[in-house]
Amino acid sequence: MIRSKYRQRYRMIPYGLGPNGEIVTPQEAQPGKSHHCPECKKRLVLRTSKLKNPFFAHLRKDKKCKLTKSPVVLAKHVLLVTLREWMKGAGDPVQLQPFCNERTELPRNEIHQIKVNHRIRINQRSLVSHLSLLDRYGLPILHIEIRDRPRPQHIKHPSWLEVSAEEILSNPYLLSPLNPDTDFLPPTPVQLSLF
Ligand SMILES: [Zn+2]
Repeated sequence: MIRSKYRQRYRMIPYGLGPNGEIVTPQEAQPGKSHHCPECKKRLVLRTSKLKNPFFAHLRKDKKCKLTKSPVVLAKHVLLVTLREWMKGAGDPVQLQPFCNERTELPRNEIHQIKVNHRIRINQRSLVSHLSLLDRYGLPILHIEIRDRPRPQHIKHPSWLEVSAEEILSNPYLLSPLNPDTDFLPPTPVQLSLF
């Protein structure tokens, strides 16, 4: 179940997909244009709250759509729209805080593409990453898996990051790993030698 404070904060559907599959926030949406749910792909309508804030709702109430039920699915879409706003230069930076380490900003300029529900192989296992941040060559910067609780056995791989849905919903700008093996290192600036 999604807690009521998060239901209110994110209005259940943080963004819709426009005609070309582009991310459209309720603030950007134009009435009359067609928008679809990023999870179940069904039609959305744009509504206005009592305080005159726009929000999306399913055109027909859909009991099967996981976006309105699962904290993991809601957190996935909240994080995606947060990353996208930041990459456009419109939002606060998204940072990563590995265990006992300082916060580091994700390398925004390196991120070329974000894949959703990306199937990959790590250590001979087939895994689905909720959000995969890829560089311009399609190589992974980070695979993010959002979970209700930690895996009984962590995936040991430097680019595999497990994060808690609750923590993302509480603060989508700070990713703190559930798996202690995360070894994410930001790209280091090139050092110029004086000799
Ligand atoms: Zn839906």
